[in-house]
Amino acid sequence: MNPDAPFGRTGEPFRFGLHVSVAGGLDRIFGRGESLGVNAVQIFSHSSRSWEFDLPDADSLAAYHRARKASSVSRVYVHASYLINIASEDPVVAEKSRVTLEKELRTADLLEADGLVLHPGSARGGDRTAAVLRASRIIGEVLEGLPDQRTPLLLENTAGAGSMLGSRPEEMAALFAGVGHSDRMGLCLDSCHLFAAGFDLSGREVLDRIVGAFLEGAPFGRLSLWHLNDALFGLGSGRDRHAGLEEGHIGADALSRIVAMARGSGVPLILETPKGEGETLDRLNLRRLHGLAGFPVPELLRDAG
Ligand SMILES: [Zn+2]
Ligand SMILES: [Zn+2]
Repeated sequence: MNPDAPFGRTGEPFRFGLHVSVAGGLDRIFGRGESLGVNAVQIFSHSSRSWEFDLPDADSLAAYHRARKASSVSRVYVHASYLINIASEDPVVAEKSRVTLEKELRTADLLEADGLVLHPGSARGGDRTAAVLRASRIIGEVLEGLPDQRTPLLLENTAGAGSMLGSRPEEMAALFAGVGHSDRMGLCLDSCHLFAAGFDLSGREVLDRIVGAFLEGAPFGRLSLWHLNDALFGLGSGRDRHAGLEEGHIGADALSRIVAMARGSGVPLILETPKGEGETLDRLNLRRLHGLAGFPVPELLRDAG
């Protein structure tokens, strides 16, 4: 463990990090995380815009696990492809989604990932209740087919644009309840999605109430992961467009309360903020994260503009 890692109130190191690229090989993600001073990373295990991908081969897995063992990055999350729509009414899309989700979960398990993050899918204008049932059924089938899977499947709340499922706590609860294997599932909350879905995050009690409502229907009443992003559009916009920390409509106060909540409860926190060229924006957002947490900015983040 990185001796400089700031500690959370649970006595555990505060786990935080960001989404990083797998370019050059899966083993490269640890160096990327270390150079930014984080102890958690999130990746796409393959191109998130493509249905076709292979499970990692033995050599790249060996290199990955070797690098992980030597690394101060101790949490790895995988984000599933955006193409997956397990709620689809179209049987062809639904079947492709089922097959791809299963492969994503097998990949995440080979990587001994701490979670596979999945959006619950879209009703595409159809009946939402039926869409929730379809999504739950597919997740249930996938989990049933992988009884030895260790990596939990984390459902992420959505911004609620159009017919995206999972923007409201009741709908997330219905998704979890419909699966029947919730011991291998968890909840991921995204601050941008909460805000875009109309949840005003200003005020400690408001935040507690919103998060509490989502936790009521979550497996074990627990939160597994935070995605910390500012929102490019206003409250209730329904638009899933992330902004850099303190550059959007959520603002520093509300973001710092979420950071405090994550730290206090030992829930890891991942940034999915806009990247641009090189690491400049990542470094900027991580400096701001340290500021929001009240931590001194570490030396290795200090130089770049
Ligand atoms: Zn997210
Ligand atoms: Zn998003």
